[in-house]
Amino acid sequence: ERKAALSAASGPGATSDGHKVPLLANVGGPADVSAAVAAGAEGVGLFRTEFLFLEDSAQTPTVQRQTEAYREVLQAFPEGRVVVRVLDAGADKPLDFLTPADEPNPALGVRGLRTLVDHPEVLHEQLTALARAAEGLPVYLEVMAPMVADRADARAFADACRAADLTAKFGAMVEIPSAALRARALLQEVEFLSLGTNDLAQYAFAADRQVGAVSRLQDPWQPALLDLVALSAESAMAEGKSCGVCGEAASDPLLACVLTGLGVTSLSMGASALPYVRATLAKHTLAQCERAAAAARATDSAEEARAAAHAVLSGE
Ligand code: PEP
Ligand code: MG
Repeated sequence: ERKAALSAASGPGATSDGHKVPLLANVGGPADVSAAVAAGAEGVGLFRTEFLFLEDSAQTPTVQRQTEAYREVLQAFPEGRVVVRVLDAGADKPLDFLTPADEPNPALGVRGLRTLVDHPEVLHEQLTALARAAEGLPVYLEVMAPMVADRADARAFADACRAADLTAKFGAMVEIPSAALRARALLQEVEFLSLGTNDLAQYAFAADRQVGAVSRLQDPWQPALLDLVALSAESAMAEGKSCGVCGEAASDPLLACVLTGLGVTSLSMGASALPYVRATLAKHTLAQCERAAAAARATDSAEEARAAAHAVLSGE
């Protein structure tokens, strides 16, 4: 019993009946790595790489500078998985030298992968730096693109990865409803999906993530958002591929159980949330998580969804 309690406190993520759900950390640079390791993260599910590009507002970081920074993170997780997101510039993360200054709606403009399609040399350098950083390390490197809208986007990213001779799995983030609706088509081009629920909520509800007045619509418990998660996870399952969550939704322990019940295969979050998510997941079976997910989806509001999931998981 003591052993079970200990593994629930620090071991790999799993439901009480042993269904494994790898618990990964979101990191924004090498400075976040020690907290992720201390929290027992099984790897990194979202390595945001914007920090490097914010160091100098006039130019992109050199390949050498990037290689050093990526290597610092990769070597912290020997035998672990590290999912690196290529540069996500624009909208809430503008970069002077890459982001067009004259867009009326930057969130709907050239951002994420679109920026990299317009600046292929930036993407190629980043992928080259990643290939060099991973050389000789026993890490499982995965690379994903932000803001993939359709199959052509997924193919463009996969082509760029192949052109850079990168030995890694490549994937697409699902942050735009069109990507969730056509997840199976994206998976003809890439090997995994990762749900960015912050942007997915923003685009599904037409609610700017930076505008507090519409925060009600940014609530990840919204049943429509749960539907998009379910569709993505079921599509991945049908293709025999994985579909994780790396948005804020994964850091809510109750919602983490619901996401597991929807079929999500890994959860990535800020390190501080990891122990709570691990402990809550370890208290429930996969079947209970599935019932909680179904109950949440059967409601018409975020509040009702939360209450319905809570009722199922607390045995009310
Ligand atoms: C997201 O959109 O959910 C996500 C993980 O990416 P970011 O918050 O960096 O846009
Ligand atoms: Mg995003």
